[in-house]
Amino acid sequence: MRVGIGYDSHRLAEGRRLVIGGIVIPFEKGLLGHSDADVLCHAIMDAVIGAVGLGDIGRLFPDTDPRWKDAVSTELLRYVVDLARMNGYAIAWIDATIIAERPKLGPFRPAMAAGLAGALGVEPSAVSVKAKTNEGVDAAGRGEAIAVHAVALLERVRR
Ligand code: MG
Repeated sequence: MRVGIGYDSHRLAEGRRLVIGGIVIPFEKGLLGHSDADVLCHAIMDAVIGAVGLGDIGRLFPDTDPRWKDAVSTELLRYVVDLARMNGYAIAWIDATIIAERPKLGPFRPAMAAGLAGALGVEPSAVSVKAKTNEGVDAAGRGEAIAVHAVALLERVRR
């Protein structure tokens, strides 16, 4: 078994779609980024990359590379899972915590978990997505950003 820890955060801005876990969430702002800025996918990718020991996410997906401009992050996640598989590891379990003051994300958790499971190639029961506020503290608490912490457990498989 290998475990990886992942983190990501993006600034909230006007005129952007809010995409979290591959789900478009109705809100007056969206996350700013080179890709679709799907902070949940990025934190999970970071965790998977960490479990395999492939280094920084920015090395795999540099934001100077036009290939990743407006990229759909669930597709990037699929790519990272394929990389893990090529290195002999499969996803066993994902747990993630979204830190967002607004909007309320609870109603979207099942859809996020189901969509992520599809991208990860696992059952929805192997994906845990949680959401909480930051009690008004720091950038996430002031509604300026959304952050995600994630953990990935990978198991060794035959190549
Ligand atoms: Mg990111």
